[in-house]
Amino acid sequence: MSTFKSDPAGPATPGAPADRSGPLSPAAGAAPGGGAPQPRRTRPAPRRLQVVRVAPLADDMVTVTLGGPALAGFALPRPAHHIKIFLPVDGQREPTVPAWGPDGRPVFPAGQPRPVVRTYTPRRFDPDAGELDIEMLLHAGGPAGRWAAGARPGDHLAIAGPGGGYEVPTGAAHHLLAADETGLPALATILERLPAAAGVTVLAEVRDAGRHRDLPVAPAATVTWLHRGTRVAGELLAESVAAAVLPAGTAAWVACEASAVRRIRRQLLGSGLDRGQISTRGYWRLGAADHPDHDFGEADLADIARSGGGRGSRLRSTLGPLSSRARSAAREVRAAMRDRGDDRSR
Ligand SMILES: Cc1cc2nc3c(=O)[nH]c(=O)nc-3n(C[C@H](O)[C@H](O)[C@H](O)COP(=O)(O)OP(=O)(O)OC[C@H]3O[C@@H](n4cnc5c(N)ncnc54)[C@H](O)[C@@H]3O)c2cc1C
Repeated sequence: MSTFKSDPAGPATPGAPADRSGPLSPAAGAAPGGGAPQPRRTRPAPRRLQVVRVAPLADDMVTVTLGGPALAGFALPRPAHHIKIFLPVDGQREPTVPAWGPDGRPVFPAGQPRPVVRTYTPRRFDPDAGELDIEMLLHAGGPAGRWAAGARPGDHLAIAGPGGGYEVPTGAAHHLLAADETGLPALATILERLPAAAGVTVLAEVRDAGRHRDLPVAPAATVTWLHRGTRVAGELLAESVAAAVLPAGTAAWVACEASAVRRIRRQLLGSGLDRGQISTRGYWRLGAADHPDHDFGEADLADIARSGGGRGSRLRSTLGPLSSRARSAAREVRAAMRDRGDDRSR
């Protein structure tokens, strides 16, 4: 049984195609084309780390710097990756971490409390210093937000991943990047990877001016801060996306509250943006704990299928060009659901 190489998104075996889902994906299956089975690869064990320091980033947002020898071999090949964080529960100093079973699902040691598992963006990794930053919103509603509010140097946690990641569309004429506080860390990683001359429209919805933060924008980018105040999260962002004047050939990346993401996705599709150039992700959902991180807001595919069922040619002509996108979305969903076996088994 082989293990992952140091590049988490790189080929498992020389010459094999890169796996977009990175090391959060379970063991590989049969060889493409039905040949001899490839050696199965395993996910690396969750990395046990400690908090090195906590620094304020904006009102109610902190940068938590993690470190430890277990970061050896960690890498972030793409922007907007995500990691799972495993947090200790009451009475624990260190979280319980799973081993991966043969099906790629986590197996927790019997009789030990399950950790809190949540999804965050690895904002910065410095392999020389052995440091990994995550930027966390301090909200009192959930255990991860509360953990971040009390995080101190020396605190223990574990991480798995990275997985996911955004493939920046290099041929896009313009980029729309839209996010709330939870999506801004990933948005910043995308800004860092865009060509300096790229035209970029950034729409950033935050509670108020106290939550502005530095973003690595090039001169050609325009950044608009939107203050939701007491409005429902994501409403203002959706209105602003609808009002934005976007050149033909714009690629859009959006991450915010899940209901708002759906609305924004429909708007972008309605405004004529190429479906393959739209990447949307629900990062959390109002009223739902640990909202699934496989939420791409792509319910529109199912909507089209439902509303058009039986209307043969129109449906076929609509879905035809979408089929590869739908298959790819389904693959991502399946991978993410396997990743989330940890939660299912809680
Ligand atoms: C791919 C991905 C990357 C992410 N990256 C980041 C990141 O870099 N930084 C970051 O801060 N978050 C990030 N998030 C969002 C984060 O995972 C969620 O906010 C998560 O729900 C927080 O867990 P919790 O234990 O604090 O709250 P939960 O237990 O999940 O939720 C408890 C309650 O709090 C509410 N809640 C959750 N999040 C918020 C919020 N942001 N504002 C207001 N209420 C909320 C829920 O609606 C629920 O009612 C990311 C999510 C995904 C899917």
